[in-house]
Amino acid sequence: MKLTTKTLLGIVLGLIVGVILHVYFPTVFKPLNDWLFAPVGDLFIKAIKMIVVPLVFFSIAMGAAGIANPKKLGRVGGKTVLLYLVTTAIAISIALLLANVFSPGEGVDVPTPGETDIETAPPVKETLMNIIPENPVQALAEGEMLQIIFFALTFGIGMAFLGDKVQRVREFVEQANEVMMHLVHMLMRVVPYAAFALMAKAIGEAGIDMIGSMAVYMITLLLALVVHAALTYGLFLKFVAKISPIKFFKTMFPAMEVAFTTSSSAATLPVTMQQVEKGLQVPRSVTSFVLPLGATINMDGTSIMQGVASIFIAQVYGIDLSIMQQLLIILTATLASIGTAAVPSAGIVMLTIVFPTVGLPLEGLGIILGVDRLLDMSRTAINIAGDAMVATCVAKSEGEEIEVDENAGIQSA
Ligand code: ASP
Repeated sequence: MKLTTKTLLGIVLGLIVGVILHVYFPTVFKPLNDWLFAPVGDLFIKAIKMIVVPLVFFSIAMGAAGIANPKKLGRVGGKTVLLYLVTTAIAISIALLLANVFSPGEGVDVPTPGETDIETAPPVKETLMNIIPENPVQALAEGEMLQIIFFALTFGIGMAFLGDKVQRVREFVEQANEVMMHLVHMLMRVVPYAAFALMAKAIGEAGIDMIGSMAVYMITLLLALVVHAALTYGLFLKFVAKISPIKFFKTMFPAMEVAFTTSSSAATLPVTMQQVEKGLQVPRSVTSFVLPLGATINMDGTSIMQGVASIFIAQVYGIDLSIMQQLLIILTATLASIGTAAVPSAGIVMLTIVFPTVGLPLEGLGIILGVDRLLDMSRTAINIAGDAMVATCVAKSEGEEIEVDENAGIQSA
């Protein structure tokens, strides 16, 4: 059986087992979760995170050194960041449009928010100021992605300027990167089991009974995710990257499954890279730089949630948002998505930046928190698909031929 099919089976079985245990055997769920689901899921996420920091460092350093020409590096970097921002802004606009049409928060009887202990996000300025690490070793140790990317970029540029003089360092970085990618390949074999455990844990803990009054909110959000993937990505893929969107999604499916079950773009990064390089056949000189950056700053799915959530909460509290305020949401949510950590539930934390700018009460977060786990899974899958789409478009615009081979990548693991 193919790994993708096995993983899908793991997800569906996990869902069924989670629902049954949550509804009929809650007392059995607890020990099972403590001793089986949670440990298996956590071990997998830890193992994959173990690979992320060295992978991001080696891969970006190699990518920057590979694009030896500083002009080209600037051009690729500029295009990448521009595409990330533009697609995120489009994503929020779709979210706002659909939320205004479906009015998920009108006339619903939502659960009163309990005590929320959501931490508040640091201001965007602080996040941007923190990009330059004072101590790169500390940045690596603490997994500060933006700082690691910055250090790796400068390290790579340094290597590029020194050329043959640092041949051995360059070889070391390249080979270390190979080793990390190989570890990803090995780890992929356990994905179906981890997917089962993570899914059973998520559903068993959250249940699906709280969906009720939140159904329209959830459906609007999921619809916005699908519309964005089909329309925005579809058009970019067809007209900019000039590849079949269907083949693209087929190739990216295994990575989207991992994103769905882990709810973390960062944890999914190794698989995303594997699929884009092997399956979409985007050259490593592009992926090594574009994808780690995307996993960190590009979150279309998250910003869609922020758009829909803003309108939903405004409606629940009877607050009218003017067009100007909605434009402000597009701006702040785009900026906020850059600072959103690529880990579960980070998007909710970033709402603490978006809500105050348009006068929405932070207590509103308590209302959407209950159903956020399921939505987090879905938006993370779109987040990483967006990164892969941009990588493909950037490669194409740099004159690379993109030949999709949907059977390469981890399918063959
Ligand atoms: N879980 C998301 C990610 O890692 C971030 C979020 O929206 O919470 O991409």
